[in-house]
Amino acid sequence: MNRILVTGGAGFLGSHLCDRLIARGDDVLCVDNFFTGSKRNVAHLLSHPHFELMRHDVTFPLYVELDRIFNLACPASPVHYQFDPVQTTKTSVHGAINMLGLAKRVRARILQASTSEVYGDPEVHPQPEEYWGKVNPIGIRSCYDEGKRCAETLFFDYHRQHRLEIKVVRIFNTYGPRMHPNDGRVVSNFIVQALKGEDITIYGDGQQSRSFCYVDDLIEAMLRMMDTPAEFTGPVNIGNPGEFTMLELAETVLRLTQSRSKLVYQPLPQDDPRQRKPDIALAKEKLGWEPRVALEDGLKETIAYFKKTIGDAGFTARS
Ligand code: NAD
Ligand code: UDP
Repeated sequence: MNRILVTGGAGFLGSHLCDRLIARGDDVLCVDNFFTGSKRNVAHLLSHPHFELMRHDVTFPLYVELDRIFNLACPASPVHYQFDPVQTTKTSVHGAINMLGLAKRVRARILQASTSEVYGDPEVHPQPEEYWGKVNPIGIRSCYDEGKRCAETLFFDYHRQHRLEIKVVRIFNTYGPRMHPNDGRVVSNFIVQALKGEDITIYGDGQQSRSFCYVDDLIEAMLRMMDTPAEFTGPVNIGNPGEFTMLELAETVLRLTQSRSKLVYQPLPQDDPRQRKPDIALAKEKLGWEPRVALEDGLKETIAYFKKTIGDAGFTARS
């Protein structure tokens, strides 16, 4: 049985990863400080004999014994990572140093959840892993973008300097059940607004694009990446190459929820990337992976989840 540490394991992606690891028989230590994650996301695992939950902030050292580490701890939505930007950089950088130090001590293989934000507002489209990105180092998104870039640097230096077995995945926008309803991300915002009959907030002209990957596809790719031969480090893009404008997304959400919400236009946030779409040729080649869930199918699952969540919070859907 593998002993696996998942940092950020009570978050959106982390909780789905814990589900898959437990289902295949691993021993899972989930570490989280509950900044954006919640015990509720892993409540169903708490009584499982192979699951353990620890409240811990990865900016402080951690001494445990294990075989593999998935390092996911970090707020991921702009609203959350801009709430305390200094802590966001600390989480990425000090968190990476602590988890890499742990991996070095116990000789564990370690995977970093990096991000498409390392490409910034890209001038190359779609983005291959060789592209170095166009990132503002002093803007309001920099705490996240540069924190994640520095974490990648640390991973590759530990690999070169200490022969650590590292894996780096660059995750593009991912959505699905257990997204935080107030995280301000576009999928959760649009669905919650549509279900509550509130205005759908389009930032800018709505022509900016994103590629949306369903969570189950993403987790499958992360698991495959962890099991690749030691010499393959990545970075490897994981995402769904289907590209949609925010207006297209809004129209799809309105149709699927049968909502009568109106579109309203609000200013585009600073440094908001115009376009983003992964080149997944490397993931196809090295992981034998490509996404299977179409946007509409994934949105239906996510809408069903939010209908229940909003109901739990005492709201009623008007769809
Ligand atoms: P999330 O906010 O739901 O999960 C992050 C988790 O990390 C939360 O449970 C949070 O409480 C925890 N955390 C934050 N700071 C911590 C700290 N200092 N110590 C311990 N735990 C801490 O976000 P998510 O969408 O699940 O993202 C998970 C990872 O994947 C993040 O590293 C994120 O950067 C990366 N990622 C996500 C996406 C996406 O679209 N969801 C895209 C690119 C990268
Ligand atoms: N966006 C929007 N309305 C919202 C929330 C976001 O139009 O209510 C836009 C946002 O400006 C960006 C895109 O949707 O262009 C994706 O935003 P998100 O925060 O989900 O992800 P990121 O910008 O980090 O890719």
